[in-house]
Amino acid sequence: MSWCLEPQTCPGVFYGTTAQDGTLLRLRVPGGCLYPAQVQALVDLGQQYALETLQVTNRANLQLRAVATAPTAPMLRQLQHQGLAAQDPRLDHLRNIMASPTAGIDPQELLNTRPWCKALDTWIQRSLHLVGLPAKFSIGLDGGGTVAIGTRAPQAWVHRYNEIQLSVVQVSEFEGLPPGTHWQLALGGDRQLFPTPVLIAIEDCVTAVAALSQVYRDYVAQNPLPTGKKPRLKHLLQDWGIERYLERVEGHLPRPWLRHQPPMPRPAQTDGHLGVHSQRQAGQVYVGVALPLGQLTLTQLQGLAHIAQRWGPGELRLTPWQGILIPHIPEAQVSQVLAALTAMGLSTPAAHERALVACTGKPGCGAAATHTQIHARALLQTLNTQLALDTPVNIHLSACPKGCAQPSPAELTLLGTENIAGEDCYHLYLGAPEGEPLYAAIPATQLPAQVLNLLRVYQQHRTSPQESFGEFAQGFQDWPLALSDATDTWLAPVAHA
Ligand code: SF4
Repeated sequence: MSWCLEPQTCPGVFYGTTAQDGTLLRLRVPGGCLYPAQVQALVDLGQQYALETLQVTNRANLQLRAVATAPTAPMLRQLQHQGLAAQDPRLDHLRNIMASPTAGIDPQELLNTRPWCKALDTWIQRSLHLVGLPAKFSIGLDGGGTVAIGTRAPQAWVHRYNEIQLSVVQVSEFEGLPPGTHWQLALGGDRQLFPTPVLIAIEDCVTAVAALSQVYRDYVAQNPLPTGKKPRLKHLLQDWGIERYLERVEGHLPRPWLRHQPPMPRPAQTDGHLGVHSQRQAGQVYVGVALPLGQLTLTQLQGLAHIAQRWGPGELRLTPWQGILIPHIPEAQVSQVLAALTAMGLSTPAAHERALVACTGKPGCGAAATHTQIHARALLQTLNTQLALDTPVNIHLSACPKGCAQPSPAELTLLGTENIAGEDCYHLYLGAPEGEPLYAAIPATQLPAQVLNLLRVYQQHRTSPQESFGEFAQGFQDWPLALSDATDTWLAPVAHA
C-alpha cells in the first residue's frame, strides 16, 4: 500500500492536497459518529504528526492540516481498521455521508437514519464503479427531527447541501398505500437543493441511491467538461433538467418512482443541537458543544472522550456545524458533565460562536488570499466581549470566492482580497458575495471594529429581536449615516474597489 499524493478536488487520507504549510488530509467519519477506539486512533495519529488540533469540517469530517510526511502503511491500516478511511484507496476521496447528529436520540424524528447511513457506506465501500464520480459526490440523510440537515431550516445558512438528499417525511394515505414514512428525494445543484415529487420507500434507500449514482456516473463518463474535469450533478441537472434525470434513473429501478405532492416541511431549530437536550430515551440527554471555528485540540478530544466514557457509553458525534455532541448522558449526571466541560473551556458558547464560520485560509490552503482563521478569532474575541446578541448573525470569512466553509449564503460575508500595503484585506457583503460589496478592502486589523459597528446598528435599528440580520439588512439603506451615529470609533468606509 502506498500513499498517493495526487491532485484531487477534495483530499482524502490517501490523497493529500498540497497547501502553503504542508499537506491537508481528510478522514471520513460517516454520519459523524466516533467511538472510543476511533478517538484513540485519532489521538495516536495526531501525536505521530505532532499536531495540536484537528479540524471538524462542515460535513462532519475531520481534517489534519500542515502534515509534513506521508502516512505510513501501519497508520493507514489502522485508520482503515477503525473505519476512518476507505477500504479501497480509490474510493477514499468521495465525500462523507452526512446525517443529522441527533439521529436515534431526537424525540421528534420520524426515522433513525443511522442504520441507513451505515448501509450506504457499506454499499459505497463495495462499489468500485463509483470511482468514476467526481469527488464532490455527496449524500445526505435527514430523519425528520428537530435538528435538520435538509431544506426545512427557516434560515438558508443552516441548510447543508448534498447532491442526493433523502429526507424522511410523513405521508397520509396515498393511492391505496397505508400512511407512513418515506424518503423524499431532493437533488443538489449549484448551492441549491431542488425538491422533487419522488417518494422512496424506506427500505429502498440503497437501491434508489445506486440507480441515481449509476446514471450520474454514465453521464460523467460521456460528458467530460472542456476543462477536462468531471461534471458534477449540477451540470447534469442544467443539461437534462430534473425530470429527464428521474426518467433515466427510473429505467434502473425494479418499480416506477412513487410520485406525490411533497408534504409541507416542518420548521427546524437553527442551532437546537447546542446545550442540554432531552433524548427520546427516557432519563437521558445529549449535550451539544460548539467548537470555535471547528477547531478541536487533541487535549479537548481526549477530555470529551473521557466525559463520554465516564458518564455515558463513550460515543461522540461530530456535527455539520463544526461542533460535537455527547449523547446518552443520564439526566442526574448533567451538572457534572457541564462542570467538566467548563473546566476544559468548552462551556455553553456565546451566540457569535454558533454562527461564525471561516475557511482554512492561509497558510492551510494554496488558493487563500488571507489568514481567515486568525482574523475570525480576532473578530470572535471582539464580538464576544463587546456585543450581546440574542440571535446569532451568520458571518462567513472566506479567503477566496469558492467559499467552501459554508455552501449556503451567509447573512454577512467577508471575502478575502489582495494584500494592500502589506496587510490582508476583506470585502464586506450583506448576504452572498455578489455584485458590489458594501465596503471594499477593509484592512484585517480594522475588521473587528467595522463588523462590531455594523452589528450595533442592527441591534439598535431592528424592528424586533425576532428580525434577523439578513431580514434587517435587506430593507435598511442608510448604513454610513447609521454607522457614524453608532460610534465615534467608526472608521471611514473604504471606497468601492
Ligand atoms: S474558500 Fe478558497 S481559500 Fe478558503 S479553503 Fe476553500 S479554496 Fe481555500
